Amino acid sequence: RSVSPSEFFKSQIRTVRGWPKAGVNFRDVTTLFHNPQAFRMAIDVFASDCERRPVDIIAAVDARGFALGGALAYHLGKPFVLVRKKGKLPYKTISESYQLEYGTAAVEIHMDACKPDDRVLIVDDLIATGGTLLAAAKLFRELQGNVIGVAALIDLVELGGSQKLRAAGLNVHALCE
Ligand code: AMP
Repeated sequence: RSVSPSEFFKSQIRTVRGWPKAGVNFRDVTTLFHNPQAFRMAIDVFASDCERRPVDIIAAVDARGFALGGALAYHLGKPFVLVRKKGKLPYKTISESYQLEYGTAAVEIHMDACKPDDRVLIVDDLIATGGTLLAAAKLFRELQGNVIGVAALIDLVELGGSQKLRAAGLNVHALCE
């Protein structure tokens, strides 16, 4: 039996049970990054999507998203934008907070990270509640960017994040569930 792309990507991701705390199954993508064939295949799938739906800017979320977004932006020859956790960017920033299970977090971009109507794709390793990617999308929308969608290696569908992102008008592309 041949292995589907989604089964292949899934087989490349390690699950660490009970990390960082009891009850969490941490989906560890460092194993996928460690396999050059799998890493390249993931970037190629995202890139072929971008050929069908053109983008002007690749953005990625701190920190595992940077590995994916950087490779994709290089491959496509597009500008690359860092969406960072609060307090890390040196120039003038805009900031967006979002709810975590306990407390809040915030992400930031530089205020000149995109121009009005730039088509932006935002990349991260995993969609859980969707809160992080939604906050990132709001930042680019605040700058009048046209956020066309989000791309991730994994969608934890049962948490409803991808549904929430689609309801906010974003295309969602995940390589496996
Ligand atoms: P969320 O904002 O709830 O969609 O959470 C997404 C962010 O949290 C991503 O940047 C992920 O890297 C991280 N994350 C959340 N849950 C997990 C998990 N089970 N395994 C690995 N990373 C996770």
